Amino acid sequence: MKVIFNIIAIFFFVVRLNAQEPYVLVLGLAQDGGYPHLGCEKECCKSAWKNDSLKRNIVSLALVSPNDKKWWLFEATPDITKQLQLFKDLTKSEFNYLPEGIFITHAHIGHYTGLMNLGREVFNTKEIPVYCLPKMKKFLEENGPWSQLVSLKNITIKELTPETTVVLGNSISVSAFTVPHRDEYSETAGFSFSAGQKKYLFIPDIDKWQKWNRNIVEEVKKVDYAFLDATFYSMDELKGRKIEEVPHPLVSETMNLFSNESSLTKSKLFFIHFNHTNPMLRLAPFQNEVKKSGFNLAVEGAKY
Ligand SMILES: [Zn+2]
Ligand SMILES: [Zn+2]
Ligand SMILES: [Zn+2]
Repeated sequence: MKVIFNIIAIFFFVVRLNAQEPYVLVLGLAQDGGYPHLGCEKECCKSAWKNDSLKRNIVSLALVSPNDKKWWLFEATPDITKQLQLFKDLTKSEFNYLPEGIFITHAHIGHYTGLMNLGREVFNTKEIPVYCLPKMKKFLEENGPWSQLVSLKNITIKELTPETTVVLGNSISVSAFTVPHRDEYSETAGFSFSAGQKKYLFIPDIDKWQKWNRNIVEEVKKVDYAFLDATFYSMDELKGRKIEEVPHPLVSETMNLFSNESSLTKSKLFFIHFNHTNPMLRLAPFQNEVKKSGFNLAVEGAKY
């Protein structure tokens, strides 16, 4: 009897060893305009025009569950063609080419217009679930060309309720919440999700942390990885433009908010959604300063 018990115990031990934890892959980290940026001949984009290895995709994450052989995409960016290929290459074709579903934060061009590639003109997908908040859903349903994706059933919109958890698999669940942002066409979502033992926070766009009804420091403490809005490093990048027109927390402001926190809390913060002007995209001294202060920068193609 004892022998049988031992064999069963060993069997489950081996199964557990083989069980792969879910993880997140960063498929893009630039602001909506990508990097390099349309028409930019300045120092920030000069090298990236000439050198493909310096180019960066627009902000996007893949949430991957190896045991279920499933994955979900966060944001449908204008770079989606490159990003689905990047995912396939990074995961050695172990998953379906298309994700199980796509989560969208809001109706600014860098975050949803990649959906156009799911229509008749390109992939002609069949009822791929698109998860978004109510105003974003209405926007897609009532405006062409997006409404055609709905009527031809290329996509099936799954309306999310803020603060309500959607269970996607054995160990994967996602919850949306709203954040203050320039909400011209839709509200703006942030996402928190659990994947196995790990918890994540994803807020690529927000006006200012102080305008939010939650405390960002406390929210970061609750998770293991927080991918947060790093559009601008400082006011230097906004010469000739008012920050009120394009409000974002400056990276310097975000770092200040966390200055008295433990090194563990700081290390959970991964900056993402870099504008082409943000020196953290390309200049080592800026990247090193952020890292020396205990924070992290999201890396395209990296696993978290
Ligand atoms: Zn954006
Ligand atoms: Zn530039
Ligand atoms: Zn936005």
